[in-house]
Amino acid sequence: MDSCKFQKGSQSESKKRSANLGDKNDLRIKAIGHGTVIDHITPGQALNVLNILRVNGNFTNTVSVVMNAGGSRGDKDVVKIEGRELTEKEVNSISLISPKATLNIIRDFEVVQKRQIQKPESVCGIVKCINPNCITNSTEPVETRFVVTEDEKVKSLVLRCVFCESVMTEDLIKFIE
Ligand SMILES: [Zn+2]
Repeated sequence: MDSCKFQKGSQSESKKRSANLGDKNDLRIKAIGHGTVIDHITPGQALNVLNILRVNGNFTNTVSVVMNAGGSRGDKDVVKIEGRELTEKEVNSISLISPKATLNIIRDFEVVQKRQIQKPESVCGIVKCINPNCITNSTEPVETRFVVTEDEKVKSLVLRCVFCESVMTEDLIKFIE
């Protein structure tokens, strides 16, 4: 990729950007032409987000990771990924480890969509049940399904398997498939 060309384009585009998108400097969206900025990721979760997005050494698009960046709402991680928009399944997976994250869809250097990730009511086919005897861990072709609630006291998500009633709340990333 020609990075010089990229910057040149972004400078001319920057004037066109509207001022009401907020957090503009924070996002440094000039680095991205098309893609997604995942902002306000829970500090320390950026690499887990990359895992969910299956970004590894074979990934060829530009990816930027900022960890423990200061922001108006305190420390956060930020992931910028060129040429990718997230599937609903990926968004739901990210919500389990970083429920306060925001998604910014970038097209032609503009933020065309900005939204707060919502805690899903339930997640299907995303998390592996912790119970080895659960039907979803048998040879039956049954997709996992968990009801998602929030434990107000410890501020973490609680997943309850609809098949075996197992409750999962810690280290969810280990169970995301
Ligand atoms: Zn289960």
